[in-house]
Amino acid sequence: MITVKHPIVEMNGDEMTRIIWDMVKEKLILPHLDVQLESYDLHVKARDATDDQITVDAAEAILRHGVGVKCATITPNAARVKEYDLKQQWKSPNATIRAILDGTVFRKPVMVSNVKPMVRSWVKPITIARHAYGDIYKNVEIQVPGPGTAEMVFTPADGSPSISETIHTFDGPGVLMGVHNLERSIRSFAQACIAYALDEGLDIWFAAKDTISKTYHARFRDIFAEEVEARQADLDAAGVSYFYTLIDDVAARIMRHEGGILWACTNYDGDVMSDMIASGFGSLGLMTSVLVSPNGVYEYEAAHGTVQRHYYRHLKGEATSTNSTATILAWTGAIRKRGELDGTPEVVDFGDRLERAVIETIESGTMTGDLARIAEPKPDGSASTQEFIEAIAERVS
Ligand code: NAP
Ligand code: MG
Repeated sequence: MITVKHPIVEMNGDEMTRIIWDMVKEKLILPHLDVQLESYDLHVKARDATDDQITVDAAEAILRHGVGVKCATITPNAARVKEYDLKQQWKSPNATIRAILDGTVFRKPVMVSNVKPMVRSWVKPITIARHAYGDIYKNVEIQVPGPGTAEMVFTPADGSPSISETIHTFDGPGVLMGVHNLERSIRSFAQACIAYALDEGLDIWFAAKDTISKTYHARFRDIFAEEVEARQADLDAAGVSYFYTLIDDVAARIMRHEGGILWACTNYDGDVMSDMIASGFGSLGLMTSVLVSPNGVYEYEAAHGTVQRHYYRHLKGEATSTNSTATILAWTGAIRKRGELDGTPEVVDFGDRLERAVIETIESGTMTGDLARIAEPKPDGSASTQEFIEAIAERVS
């Protein structure tokens, strides 16, 4: 048994990933670590029963303890409200936690030797940093019914004259959208990217569309450049370079690049590109995610959702083959970070050992269906959800 000095905040979730969560804890973590888990159950019914207070409590616990690990959770829509008889469409737990931790999300694919990326040039992981505030995710929209004028007006709080621009004079129906961002948030995004790149020794690429958006996107470019300049000495010392270009230029370059970089993305680009990168590297089940807060706290999770379709099969008593890799690596990320912050190398080592066991299990030919379909050489059959975790458990003991 290895003793972990300080608590890890653990957040359970929904559906198939909840099934996986309990197996991972029971078979891979608790037999090896004497760890104090501060547990929050973010099951959709538990959120509903507490009017979502449990999510806020969990986020505050992460702030207190510094390290959290989270299971995927349902973000309720109308269908989920009916399915679970919920009081309302509660906000996405991830959005709530992000708002409290004020963080940047980094997504990194796990590479295994027998699953080749779809893009031949990719030999190292491409990590995506997604700015997680504002833009279309906090937009205001109007469906324009007919002719008229759309204006954008800013009214200063200090009583100085307002600033206005005509957006468009409509001669018929159309649509309108207003978006915003905050200098504070963009700055903390840039700082988080720089800190992560220094930690991991990765060059940073950042892209926007400043040729078209000469004020909004240009502001992102300038703020990022200022933050890089402020850390230039550290970046030079670590041999980490910074490259700014247009988003379409990155889209073209990334397809011929070998990887091993941190690609910093604005909110929408990060949403879309992280899905492209995840599927390009093989499977959603191989993509890990960490929220790094400027307060120096870390929250780890798998990038995928609750794998609903598999859960319904599980409920019918059918065998499932759901990939737990990203969930296990969320745990190993949290364990390693806990060990780093506590100064306990034996805890870091266990995180490494468990991660190696996962990768070696896949590389030895034991894998779930999502990978078995694309692996080279083709394995004979695929492991069930449980068999895969048991094979890892055997290897790690
Ligand atoms: P999803 O759970 O990521 O699953 C989409 C599909 O991807 C699955 O049906 C499955 O394909 C494949 N897949 C994803 N993870 C896999 C894994 N570990 N192993 C094998 N296959 C995997 O996304 P979704 O179906 O759009 O969302 C389901 C629920 O998750 C929603 O309620 C959503 O709100 C929530 N969600 C939560 C988070 C989060 O908490 N971070 C993120 C995204 C979505 P096949 O069915 O073809 O095998
Ligand atoms: Mg997306």
